[in-house]
Amino acid sequence: MIQITDMNKWFGSFHVLRDINLTVHKGERIVVCGPSGSGKSTMIRCINRLEEHQTGSIVVDGIELTDDVKKIDMIRREVGMVFQHFNLFPHLTVLENCVLSPIWVRKEPRRQAEERAMALLERVKIPEQAKKFPGQLSGGQQQRVAIARALCMQPKLMLFDEPTSALDPEMIKEVLDVMVQLAESGMTMVCVTHEMGFAKTVADRVVFMDGGQVVEQAPPSTFFTNPTSERTRLFLSQIL
Ligand code: ATP
Ligand code: MG
Repeated sequence: MIQITDMNKWFGSFHVLRDINLTVHKGERIVVCGPSGSGKSTMIRCINRLEEHQTGSIVVDGIELTDDVKKIDMIRREVGMVFQHFNLFPHLTVLENCVLSPIWVRKEPRRQAEERAMALLERVKIPEQAKKFPGQLSGGQQQRVAIARALCMQPKLMLFDEPTSALDPEMIKEVLDVMVQLAESGMTMVCVTHEMGFAKTVADRVVFMDGGQVVEQAPPSTFFTNPTSERTRLFLSQIL
């Protein structure tokens, strides 16, 4: 589903991603962790071309990411993304947030888009909020809307960038529950998160980044108990 090969990225003269190699198969759940500034967000933003890489290749669902705008559009239709700060449209209701892309990008009939949106709002357990505006919802509810909105495009792959780190503790669980359920449904997921409980129970593989590099990747059973790199050990000792 994702094949990143010898990928490098610079911000000006700053070499932010160094020789990244990462393969994600269909149905796999990947957790990406690492210290602040290690390049986690930049890497996953490269996967749907919110950031541009300079060397190496990124292939998503068989399509290589280049400057070709048509290909970028094709990939963005298949890839859902959820951010730390929800990024909902504040002037649109929850339901309108959910149907906007299906109607305008996928050219779906409104009725069909609304039916799917309501079904997904049920799935994230907030159908009663459909007519409200994002500002009238709690953070946890807004994040669940953001997940439902991404799913409305029927993506093949979901990217999460610290979806719970802006939330109060009591709201973290309601968002993680939705993510666990999504994982159980077989969705291919790449999640940047420091929720190590989630990583242990849900991830097929944990990817540790430091200094713009993928330092280590392993199934959670080995990652947490027997990391090979000293940098991983240090990181784990600080967060566990
Ligand atoms: P965090 O855990 O704090 O979210 P991260 O691992 O997601 O960190 P990135 O946001 O990918 O890290 O940033 C990696 C490095 O690139 C940081 O040093 C950051 O300051 C720098 N950086 C990020 N975005 C830009 C940008 N648009 N221009 C220049 N430098 C940037
Ligand atoms: Mg980040």
